[in-house]
Amino acid sequence: MSRRLLAAMAKVLDPYYDLIMDEDLAKNEWPKQLDEHQKQEKQSIMAQVMTREMWDKFKDHKTKNGWTLARAINTGVTNPSSFLGCHAGDMESYTEFGPLFKGAVEKYHVGYDMETMKHVTDMDVNKIGTELADHAQKKIISTRIRCARNLSFFPLNTCGTKETREEIAELMEGVFKTFTGDLAGKFYRHTTMSEDEIKELVDKHFLFRGKDKMQAASGYHADWPHGRGIFVSNDEKFLMWLNEGDHLRIISMEQGGDIPSVFDRLGRGAAAVENGLKEVTKRDEVYMSSPVLGMITCCPTNLGTGMRGSVHIIIPKLIKKIGFEGIDKVARSMNCQARGSTGEHSEVIDRVDISNWRRLGYPEYNLVEDMIKCVNVISQMEDEIED
Ligand code: ADP
Ligand code: MG
Repeated sequence: MSRRLLAAMAKVLDPYYDLIMDEDLAKNEWPKQLDEHQKQEKQSIMAQVMTREMWDKFKDHKTKNGWTLARAINTGVTNPSSFLGCHAGDMESYTEFGPLFKGAVEKYHVGYDMETMKHVTDMDVNKIGTELADHAQKKIISTRIRCARNLSFFPLNTCGTKETREEIAELMEGVFKTFTGDLAGKFYRHTTMSEDEIKELVDKHFLFRGKDKMQAASGYHADWPHGRGIFVSNDEKFLMWLNEGDHLRIISMEQGGDIPSVFDRLGRGAAAVENGLKEVTKRDEVYMSSPVLGMITCCPTNLGTGMRGSVHIIIPKLIKKIGFEGIDKVARSMNCQARGSTGEHSEVIDRVDISNWRRLGYPEYNLVEDMIKCVNVISQMEDEIED
């Protein structure tokens, strides 16, 4: 067998990286799989919102960057266990396929009315009006707060190309050079990092793993590893992800439970990124945003602040008593959620990740308060269990 033929055979579609369309959606036809999902009790938000009427009305619409309804819902159709099930390709997606995204936004961000409400932003650390209890402080391994940002002069990552992704990395390399003091650091690109370097950064909880099927089904991982990378400050407390989900994920993290210190660094970091971008691009506005939706993100769950603040907490007795599901239920009742030890969709190995659920319609400091209140209650529950 020829070498070329062998190489061609080896290049079968990789479900972890390549964009694989549902058979019907690939032909721009109503996805029959969705009929099945819509009969189940547990459905993604997309399946709850999507109708045949909506499909017929919007199936031939296309945004300037080429995003379609088929592309938007492919992730939920091919991954029936999705919680959300749809992604945007650009800012226009949120208006072009109006009822789908309006439905998704209002179902995730419960209580947010897109007709009458406006998003607010405030990262002032002095406005945090709740304190972490001592008993909670003692159980926290580390604290991390991240916020998502997308550049207004590129399509979102889902709709990007190898060139747009690399241009973003190029541009950001210039922005990283403007950082000073504790924010200064080093940029690592996936195209030049070794497997060992990647593994080390992932193991430290700094770097994304990639290989997320739900993201892959929307094209997030296309042209991997081009344009992907991570910036790490010299003290390893200020980081940035490039072209993982959104163009930029700005991250502040450190060991222990000093939440105000982490939030303060995030605010300073976010300002440095925005100022650096304005300086390098000579633009007055650099981010994709709107008064109603705040920061525009690929995933409608991240709209608004784009912020998820989390602590890694050790609560073995509570895990044994009520399990991960039980802890998540408590967290959900307090506008928060639980995740596993190594991020979204991961198992609990030792620590549990508790973070804010809400992102849109509330200023950032309020969301930090949500997390603190929830962690205090969960820590108290752990202490009330007899040994
Ligand atoms: P994101 O919301 O930023 O996409 P993920 O759930 O994918 O977050 O997690 C990304 C990485 O951040 C994972 O390695 C996860 O374990 C790590 N992480 C999340 N919260 C914390 C924390 N409080 N301390 C340390 N690492 C954390
Ligand atoms: Mg994520």
